[in-house]
Amino acid sequence: MASESHVDLASLPADERLSRMRHSAAHVLAEAMVELIPGAELGIGPPIDTGFYYDFRLPRPLTQDDLEWLEKRMRQSIKRKHRFQMAGISRAEAEARWADQEFKLDLLKDIEDGSITQCTHAAFTDLCRGGHVNHTGEIPAFKLMSIAGAYWRGSEKNPQLQRVYGALFEDQAELDAYLERLEDARRRDHRRIGRDLKLFDLVDEIGPGHVVWLPAGATIRRELQRWIEDLELDRGYQHVVTPAVSKRELYVKSGHWDHFRDAMYPVMERDGEEYVLRPMNCPSHIMVYQSEQHSYRELPIRIAELGNMHRWEKSGQVQGMSRVRIMTLNDAHIFCAGIEQVESEVEGVLRLMEHVYGVLGLKDYTYRLSLGDPGDHEKYVDNPPMWERGEALLRRVLQKVGLSFYEAKGEAAFYGPKIDVQFQTASGKDETLVTVQVDFHFPEQFKLEYVSDEGGRERPIIVHRGVISTLERMVALLIEEYEGNFPLWLSPVQAIVVPIADRHVAYASEVADTLRALRLRVEVDDRGERMNAKIRDGQLRKVPYLLVVGDREAESAAAAVRVRGGADLGAMPIAAIAEKLRSERDTRALRPEGS
Ligand SMILES: [Zn+2]
Ligand SMILES: [Zn+2]
Repeated sequence: MASESHVDLASLPADERLSRMRHSAAHVLAEAMVELIPGAELGIGPPIDTGFYYDFRLPRPLTQDDLEWLEKRMRQSIKRKHRFQMAGISRAEAEARWADQEFKLDLLKDIEDGSITQCTHAAFTDLCRGGHVNHTGEIPAFKLMSIAGAYWRGSEKNPQLQRVYGALFEDQAELDAYLERLEDARRRDHRRIGRDLKLFDLVDEIGPGHVVWLPAGATIRRELQRWIEDLELDRGYQHVVTPAVSKRELYVKSGHWDHFRDAMYPVMERDGEEYVLRPMNCPSHIMVYQSEQHSYRELPIRIAELGNMHRWEKSGQVQGMSRVRIMTLNDAHIFCAGIEQVESEVEGVLRLMEHVYGVLGLKDYTYRLSLGDPGDHEKYVDNPPMWERGEALLRRVLQKVGLSFYEAKGEAAFYGPKIDVQFQTASGKDETLVTVQVDFHFPEQFKLEYVSDEGGRERPIIVHRGVISTLERMVALLIEEYEGNFPLWLSPVQAIVVPIADRHVAYASEVADTLRALRLRVEVDDRGERMNAKIRDGQLRKVPYLLVVGDREAESAAAAVRVRGGADLGAMPIAAIAEKLRSERDTRALRPEGS
C-alpha cells in the first residue's frame, strides 16, 4: 500500500494520459471547494470526454464568481506541484475520516475490505481508487465551465447535488479550439434561435418533450409537410391518417410491447380494454394494408403518413426539439412483392433522400448500414437467413446508387437490418436522422398476404422508411444548419414592407397586398418607430427581404430592396420584386440569386 510509483505520462496512450490529468484536476477542484465552503459534502469527481466534473452538496447555490475564485485557487495549487499520494486504509479509518461525509460513506459500502484507498495532495484527502498524474503541476490547460444540478448516483430519489464542470485538454491550443467549437454550437443552438425567432416553445404546464409549435415554427413545418407530401404523391405514395391510440394487443402482436415497452407511455384502461399511445406507426399501416385483399398487380403499395408517435424518453435525454417525447414522423411503409421490388423501392427511397437533402442544402451526413448481431437473441429476432438476405440487399442497393457508407454491427432494428442516415449536430454529436428498413418479420407476425399471378397466397415484404425524419428533429437540424436564416420558401415571414413615414403606410399596404396575392408571407411594419429601428428589427428576425417605401417609391410603384445579410439592391419596380420573390420561393433556392 505504498504511494503510487512515478508515472511516465509521455509513454501513456493519449486517452489514458488525458483521463489521469482530468481526474487529477477534479481532486484539485474539490480541494479548492472545501476551502471556499468548509463543510462542503463531496460526491464523485470522474474524468469525462472533454474534461472532468465534481459533485458537491453545498449549503448555498454556487455563482459565477465562485467559479472564478475556484479556478484561481486551482491554478495556485497547480503551481505548487503537490504530489498525489495513494495509501491503503482500513474501513474503520475510512469511516472515521469521512464520518460527516454521507456520500463517501455510501461509496465505502461498495468497496471491499482491504481495497479501500485514499489519495492525498496538499492538505486534501479523498476516497479514491487511483489514476492520477504525479503532481498537480502536470495538470495542463483547463477551465471551469459551468454549474449544473445532478442527483447522487444519478437517481431522482437521491439528494440533489451541484455539479461543477471543467474542460481540460493537453495544451492551450486544444482547449481554445474546444471553446471555439462550443461557441459555434451555442450560436447555432436551435433552442436559443427557436426562442429568439419565436418558432416553438416548451411549456412546463404541457410537459417536457412536448413541443408547442408557435405560428412561425408551424409555418416552416407546414411548408416542409406540403413539399414532402407532394414529392411522395409524385412517386406513387398514398397518404393515410391513422389513430395515435391503439389497443395494447396490437403492439404485443407486432413485438413492440416486448422490445419497446420501456420507451412507451403507460397503459390507459377503459371498459376493460388496455390502450396505449403508439410508439411507432408500422402496425397502423399494416392495418391499412389488411383492410382489403391485394393482388400482385397492386404491389408495391406505398402507404405514407405524417404520423405522430409517443416515446417516453428519459428526462435527462429530452432536449429542445431534437429529442422529444411526442413527434411526427414522415413515415411510410412500402409493401413489396418479391425481393426485386424491394430493391427498386429501396433505391427509390435513397434517390428521394438525396433529392430532399440536396434541396435543403444538407451536406454533413453519411449512410450507415446497420447490421444485426447473430449472437444476440435478446435484442434481435432470431432468424439468420432473414438477416443475411436483408443485409446483402441493402448493401447492394447502396452500391448501386453510388452512395458511400459504412457498416455497423448491432445497430439494426429488432426485426431487421436498416440503412441509417447519420447527421452531425451543431454540438458535434452523431445522430440518426432517418432509416430505411427491410422487414420480413412483420409480414410473418401479421400473416400478411397478396394473391400471386398464379392465384396462390404470398407474403409481401415491407420497406419501412422516413425521409425528412420527424418534423421536430428536421426543423431543429435546419435551424442549426441555417443559423435561423431560412431560405425564402421556408421563412415564416418572407418580406416586411417598411414605410418611411406614416403617410406611406397606405402605399406599403398596397405593396404587401400585391405580394400576398402570390401567397407570399408579407408584413407591413406600421409601428411608430424610426425606419432604422424597423430595419434592425427585421434583420434580427432574419426576414429575407425588407422593402422600404417613401415618397419616391410610392410615385414610381417601386420599393427599395434590402436583402438579408446586407446587400442593398436599391429601388425596384413592385412587379419585378414580386417576380423575384416568387421565383426564389418556387425554385426553393437556398439563397437569393447572386448572393
Ligand atoms: Zn483520484
Ligand atoms: Zn415502420
